[in-house]
Amino acid sequence: AKSEGKSRWAVYDPERNAREVARFRLSATMPAALEREEFFVDYQPLVRLADNAVVGVEALVRWRHPEHGLLSPDRFIGLAEETGLIVQLGRWVLEHACQQASRWQREFGPAAPYVSVNLAARQSRDPGLVNDVESILRDTGIPPTGLQLELTESAVMGTADDQLDALRRLYEMGVRIAIDDFGTGYSNLAYLRRLPVHELKIAGSFVEGLRAPDKPADPVDKQIVGALVTLAHALGLTVTAEGVETRAQAERLRDIGCESGQGWFFARPGPPETISRFLREGLF
Ligand code: C2E
Ligand code: CA
Ligand code: CA
Repeated sequence: AKSEGKSRWAVYDPERNAREVARFRLSATMPAALEREEFFVDYQPLVRLADNAVVGVEALVRWRHPEHGLLSPDRFIGLAEETGLIVQLGRWVLEHACQQASRWQREFGPAAPYVSVNLAARQSRDPGLVNDVESILRDTGIPPTGLQLELTESAVMGTADDQLDALRRLYEMGVRIAIDDFGTGYSNLAYLRRLPVHELKIAGSFVEGLRAPDKPADPVDKQIVGALVTLAHALGLTVTAEGVETRAQAERLRDIGCESGQGWFFARPGPPETISRFLREGLF
């Protein structure tokens, strides 16, 4: 049975074996897929809750696979981390996102949004990171403040202190640093003293209880979000709430003190043209 196969690895489990083979095949085709430009980037607005202005956009990678169709990052990012290809894939995303940012910069000037790019743990440890970012900024002409890097708590925790120097240098250059999925990782906040940060992104799981329009916010979730916002502000950081799916949530988060929100209530991730339309015409 499946449950047995999970705990007793020595037992041959055909289902598990098939999954492993599929994963292996997928990872083996990734380098060629990168060459053939099968990956692309969608963008999702980061919205200022005070006035619903699009102040930033998160770059989210997708894979248009010739056989399997559209693959979400959950299907292949983990694989890319295991094989190490995440360093190349991540650099590719960074480059594309900055090129897109420079188009918005040309069209919208100072009203152009910053682009927020996810950085895998392996990338934060890559000795070429600072050089890559510097040359991409130089080539695309966007200012360092036009770029944000998102790291999860576990990525920061899993990175040795001297390897965080690269991120400290990027921070000093003006590149924005955000902690992704804040609150879901280590409950140990020591990393906030190891790494300079601009922004905390509160994971969607904490804002779920603020969702329903027809009943009061869940008191525990409300207290947790309130405490995270208080902590962030005490440290001089801003807060973006993720997974905002309803108007009620957006309003409650604004009232609690979150600066920005991200989620389906505002917009799903989509092509850059959709973001351009939001920037011209507003979200609603
Ligand atoms: P994440 O960084 O936490 O990104 C937010 C995820 O939440 C995205 O999933 C987004 O589509 C989804 N989302 C946005 N609004 C809502 C909402 O209102 N409700 C719900 N339920 N979900 C919402 P996506 O695009 O499937 O990405 C999944 C994860 O893959 C990301 O989670 C990130 O960890 C990773 N990822 C995506 N692109 C990259 C990349 O270029 N590099 C790396 N290293 N990781 C990436
Ligand atoms: Ca993210
Ligand atoms: Ca997140």
